[in-house]
Amino acid sequence: MPLAEFDLIREFFSHSAADRDDVVLGVGDDCALLQPPVGMELAVTSDTLVEGVHFAVDADPEALGHKSLAVNLSDLAAMGAEPAWVSLALTLPSSNYDWLQAFSRGFISLAKEHGVALIGGDTTSGPLSISVTAHGFVRPGTALRRSGANVGDQIYITGTLGDAALALLARQGSYTIESGVAQLEQRLDRPQPRLAVGLALGQIATAAIDISDGLLSDLGHICASSGVGARVLLERIPTSAQVRSYLQQGGEWGTVVAAGDDYELCLTIPPGRGSLLRDIKADLDCDLVQVGEVVSGSGVTCIDSEGRTVSDLGLGYQHFR
Ligand code: ADP
Ligand code: MG
Repeated sequence: MPLAEFDLIREFFSHSAADRDDVVLGVGDDCALLQPPVGMELAVTSDTLVEGVHFAVDADPEALGHKSLAVNLSDLAAMGAEPAWVSLALTLPSSNYDWLQAFSRGFISLAKEHGVALIGGDTTSGPLSISVTAHGFVRPGTALRRSGANVGDQIYITGTLGDAALALLARQGSYTIESGVAQLEQRLDRPQPRLAVGLALGQIATAAIDISDGLLSDLGHICASSGVGARVLLERIPTSAQVRSYLQQGGEWGTVVAAGDDYELCLTIPPGRGSLLRDIKADLDCDLVQVGEVVSGSGVTCIDSEGRTVSDLGLGYQHFR
């Protein structure tokens, strides 16, 4: 028996994930009532995942629950914000109990992990689409905007790039991963938002973005907003053993720098902050590697191991193109 709208909300979405004192009133009324901390700025972001565009028709619902929240928390991370509240607008073709149970498990467990409260949402019927709005706090004037990069800043990247894209190529049958398939699929299905990095580097980075559409596209946004260019050394880009093996077999660099879904952070940091950065790096739960520098001019230039400029690496994902 499919659950009707209100039963479904009560069953799966009425518990708030994390308990927070700043939620005066959560799920159940016309609005949630929230008490932002005095003197903090509110960082707000929305991201929608649509079946057939962002995920396949047979996608694992638990992974979808995780990813729909993770991509939003990744935006908060890229701003240097501390996550607090989230709302969830679900459009469902049917109210399938097992699907909803798995979806909510994935969503709620990531929310709990980061102390985020589910404060409301909307549930409608229609083609499957998941829309999340996340709220976080940031000290006034300290948010990591795209517009703050300066010529001479060094460009850093967290984690590794290209894993999600390679997992997708494999899932689509156009590449065979020899070992560590499950690990790569995790990177595609369950990205980990780099919240601790965004918070820790808030004091020393000049600009940041999360890599959702590929490094070239996303670093390109920093360049455009900051009025600068970027030089990236391809060989310095951190990659997993699987991606290195793919490249050694003649795979395209575009998979690493122009395909999306990495959800790593790209940050610009002035070279003078090296000792502060070393201290912070020691406490991070992921690698942070310098891949290039901010230069005058515009756009992102990629350089290969022989010092040649590499073009035609692809453009990154864009809807309506
Ligand atoms: P309204 O009709 O006033 O918009 P709804 O009947 O849509 O309210 O929702 C009832 C309550 O359930 C509201 O507090 C709303 O925020 C919450 N809610 C609805 N759908 C979801 C969902 N998918 N996740 C979390 N909360 C939800
Ligand atoms: Mg409603």
